[in-house]
Amino acid sequence: MAQNSELSLRFFASGYCTAHAQVVNPKEGKGKTTFSAVWALLNIPNVGYVMFDTGYSDAFHAATKPFPDRIYRWATPVTLKSDESAKEILIGQGIQPDLIKYIIISHFHADHIAGIRDFPNAKFICSEDAIEEVLLLEGFKAVKKGILHGLFPSDFYERLMTIEAFADKTSINNFGMVEFELFGINDFKVVLLPGHAKGMLGFIYSNNGQSIFYGTDASWSIETFNKGILPKKIVKLFFDSWDDYTRTIDKIKDFKLANPHYDILFTHCRETLKYISNEI
Ligand SMILES: [Zn+2]
Repeated sequence: MAQNSELSLRFFASGYCTAHAQVVNPKEGKGKTTFSAVWALLNIPNVGYVMFDTGYSDAFHAATKPFPDRIYRWATPVTLKSDESAKEILIGQGIQPDLIKYIIISHFHADHIAGIRDFPNAKFICSEDAIEEVLLLEGFKAVKKGILHGLFPSDFYERLMTIEAFADKTSINNFGMVEFELFGINDFKVVLLPGHAKGMLGFIYSNNGQSIFYGTDASWSIETFNKGILPKKIVKLFFDSWDDYTRTIDKIKDFKLANPHYDILFTHCRETLKYISNEI
């Protein structure tokens, strides 16, 4: 794929963790379910390659060796094939890791950012609220919120920008979501979807017959989203705000009602795997 050509979007997955299906769907869930770590690659004219999250990488295993971060590994056992990290997938696609210009970090949970060390030239973009929380929390408190400081490269803060500072334009869209325009284009917009994590980001993409609302972890399943089933309340232990979570879901529902031709995708939804370009 040549750089600086046409706008494009592709999805990939790097590893997965397992959890009880009851957590996702307290009404109908049975046995275990998998949470694939999906991430996206955009090619943006006159900018280059931009990733949205990275999925898991081996850095997760290294970062969860010491206490208290080891608790994270016990809570969410991870499976990652040897050639499945974002870096390896991109090399397989003919894209060297140093060509990645930006990584938009949806939120700081390890299944979204474990690969950020592998991209030496990437600038990182996240929301003000997300980084504020990262800076506040250490030790157990950080692990409880799913934040592993050990995943950050040593120059992380030098390469980090907030989306509020980076965006060309910030507005509130018709559905009450804060929306950011960036990279001088209109067909890809980042939206603030708080609740699951503080300052979590998703995006809206419409180009070349592909219309996608990417809701990140605003829900874990399109099925429960459509049926109005919320996750088991135990998730409140690590969610940032249950009120924000339900409000964000309502806003995405309003978006879908007004834009029925859009596909609503969530990072860990099994239906999202139909959109990914790598084989798993
Ligand atoms: Zn998350």
